[in-house]
This record gives sequence, structure tokens and C-alpha cells, in this order.
Amino acid sequence: MPDPLRIAIVGGSVGGCTLALGLLKHPHIQFDVFERSTFRERGAGILIYPNGMNALRALGVDGDQMMKDAGAFRSAYQNAVVAYGEHKDKILWETSDGVQSVIRTNLLEQMLQRLPAERLHEHKLLVSIEEGASLTLHFADGSSYEADAVVGCDGIRSTIRGIILGPQHPAVPPVNTGFWDARAVVSSEKGLASFGSTVIKPESPRQGYRCGEGSIILFVSGPPGSMAAAIVGGKTGPGDEHITEWKTPITREFLERKYAKWGNQEYLEGVFECLLTPGAGPGVLFQQWESQPAPTYWRGRICMMGDAAHATTPWMGQGFSMVAEDAAVLTGLLGNVRAKEEVEYAFEAYDKTRRGGRPTFVVENSRLIAEIACGSQGFDPATIASNRIVEKYRWVWDGDVEKEVSGAVDYFEALKRS
Ligand SMILES: Cc1cc2nc3c(=O)[nH]c(=O)nc-3n(C[C@H](O)[C@H](O)[C@H](O)COP(=O)(O)OP(=O)(O)OC[C@H]3O[C@@H](n4cnc5c(N)ncnc54)[C@H](O)[C@@H]3O)c2cc1C
Repeated sequence: MPDPLRIAIVGGSVGGCTLALGLLKHPHIQFDVFERSTFRERGAGILIYPNGMNALRALGVDGDQMMKDAGAFRSAYQNAVVAYGEHKDKILWETSDGVQSVIRTNLLEQMLQRLPAERLHEHKLLVSIEEGASLTLHFADGSSYEADAVVGCDGIRSTIRGIILGPQHPAVPPVNTGFWDARAVVSSEKGLASFGSTVIKPESPRQGYRCGEGSIILFVSGPPGSMAAAIVGGKTGPGDEHITEWKTPITREFLERKYAKWGNQEYLEGVFECLLTPGAGPGVLFQQWESQPAPTYWRGRICMMGDAAHATTPWMGQGFSMVAEDAAVLTGLLGNVRAKEEVEYAFEAYDKTRRGGRPTFVVENSRLIAEIACGSQGFDPATIASNRIVEKYRWVWDGDVEKEVSGAVDYFEALKRS
């Protein structure tokens, strides 16, 4: 290819940066990442499961080293336990597979350190794309950029999604799932002192759900010197009319009402205190939204990935791992594009591989797990077992991303020949 293939990545959070890391290894591709704000992560921790680590490997990224540099820790046990009532302390499901927990800011920082600074552009809010022989991206500051292809990594309220589907398309806006959450992140020492040794076990890092009617707490327990977290959440309902669309100040009254049935649990007061302490707690609670199924992930030489394509509730912890899988498939395809006319075949093959597949499974099952953890089927372990939750986790964790990439490339080659 005489000239480089110019790819504009819109959105500079974990999705855009993961794709950029993958494209780095293809010398015939010139990418530029445009972020509306600064390259700074918001939010607390992120869990990365085996499929996410495999996807990083497929991208040519040394994920283990990157996680180490980001101060991640590994835990090998996860369970869901009934918090109170007839089935108190019974285990609804348990798994023993490796998951990495990392602070989001640290992960993004490590990604940025591995990317050429001249390809990263801050304060570039994309407003429109003019589609001609080239694609002209127009930004809110009046500047523009010419590209051969555009990938939207611009999150759940994606502009690119509207450009692909058409702004009035009913699948453009995300839907409110009726769940809320808030997170307190503290040192593991503070976590042990505040939440107690029943749920925080620095000597044996783990994740553990405590489940009650309408409310959940997920405890993340890291080794000494790392972090602990309490992620509270559940269903919104009567009395929650004050909750605004995206985030609402969190109050003790709200927490006490949501956990009124939980009784005198040793961890509850410590969780409330951390949630309400500036610095440890977020100060706000979030409503949880997810994408509606999209009729396509691409149009012309524009496509979308990550939360822009398939945002999910966080209960399977798969948001980042799905981003990394999307990036692996797109990188594999774009690495094989030799002329800009082939970009559409690459995006069609990406759409065929990912849409309706693994990301959709995650969106549906993450919501199902939240419903079950909130007691939609009661808390009798025998009833819950019929949902085969561990098998669902395993199916996602054991996904063969290399096979997805090679299947996508075969499809792309077939489209080129057709
Ligand atoms: C409460 C919560 C908890 C989560 N917990 C986990 C977890 O434990 N494990 C996990 O794997 N995942 C988790 N996730 C999901 C994970 O955070 C997301 O899946 C992931 O951040 C998606 O990455 P993304 O880059 O696609 O989108 P985002 O992270 O949303 O990034 C989009 C970026 O695009 C930029 N942008 C938006 N519009 C424009 C525009 N017009 N022009 C330029 N830039 C633009 C934004 O500023 C932003 O930087 C959680 C999500 C939430 C909401």
C-alpha cells in the first residue's frame, strides 16, 4: 500500500487506547486518537477476566507486564452468598478462575505510556463526519481531520452510533436497566478494618457478592498493600424518584432504606461510612444503562466498538474484556486491509463476528445475574443452580479470541473474492 491507511479512533478511554495498541504493530496503518476531554479515566476499579487477557495477547500487548506495571492484583476465587434470611450464608455459586483487578486510572496510564504521544489528541469533541472520497471529521473547536476509516470508541452515549444508524434510529439511545450502583475503593488495610474479616481476606484475594432482596454488595478483596472495594447496587423502585438519569448524590438515608432488611451485618456500617467519605466513596450513585441491540455495527467506512456498540451492566465485569476482544478482531482485520476500498469488507466481517455474538451474551447475562443476585428467583441454592451461572461465566472466560480473529479474517478474504 503506497500511502498509509489513516484510521481515526474517536474516544480515548480504554477502548480507543486498546485498539491503538493493537494497530501499533501494523506499519501500513497510521492511527490518530481523538478524545473530547483529556486522556484521564474516570471511575474506580476494573476487573479483567481470562478472555480479556487473551485478547490483549492476541493484540500483541504484553498484558501481564502491563497489569503488573499498573499495580493489578490477581484473585482466584469468586462467590455469591445469601446475606440474610432462611438461606443466610448459603453459597449460590462459586468459581475459581484468575481475574485481575486494577485501578482504571493506572491501566489507562500504562496504555498511554505505550502509545506515541503525537498520535493522541485531547479536547477534540467529534461533532460530525463528512463522507466523501475521504472521511472528514469535524470537531467542536472548528478543526477537522481526513481519514480513510473511523472507529467509534466513544462510549455509551456515542455520537458515532448516531452517525452509523441515523440520529433518529430507535436503537441509538441506551436504555435504563432499572439498576443503580455506587463504589467505595480503599486500601486493603482500611477495607479489612471497615468491612471486617468475613468479607475481606487479604491473605486470599477474592470477589464476593452478598445478595439480598433488591440489593447487592460486591466485595473486592486484594492482598496487603493493594486495595479493597465495596460495590453496592440493586434495583431502583418506589422512593427512588429523586434519582436522576446518570448520577445522583448518595445519602445515608438512601443506603439505610436500601439495606433495611439486611439487619445487623458486621460490614454494613463500614460500607456506608466509606461510601459517604469523600475520597473513598464516589459521592454519587449511578443508574445503570445498556445498549439496545443495534441492527449493524458499521456503515461505509465507519464502525463502532466497545460501549458504543454494546454497553452492558457491570455485573459480569466484562466491559473491558469485550472491548479488548473487539479490538483484537478489528486489529486482525485492519492489519489485512491493503487498499482503503477493502475497509468496508473488514467492517462487515467485524460486524458478522461480533454483533449478536459474545457481547450480546454478556449484556443479557450480566442483567440476568443482577436480577438473580437481587432475589428475582428467591435464594434457594437448588433453584439458582438451574441457571447454570458458572457455566455462563466459563463460556465467556474460555472464549477463543484467536479463533474469532482468524474466522473474521477468512470471512473478509471471502468477501474480497466475491
Ligand atoms: C459503573 C461501572 C462499572 C464497571 N465495572 C467494570 C469492571 O469491573 N470490569 C470491566 O471490564 N468493565 C467494567 N465496566 C465497563 C467498562 O468501564 C466499559 O465497558 C469500558 O470503559 C468501555 O470502554 P469504551 O472505551 O468503549 O468507553 P468509555 O470508557 O465510555 O470511553 C468513551 C470515551 O469516548 C470519549 N468521547 C465520547 N464522545 C466523544 C466524542 N464525540 N468525541 C470524542 N471523544 C468522545 C469519552 O470522553 C470517553 O473518554 C464498568 C462500567 C460501569 C459504568
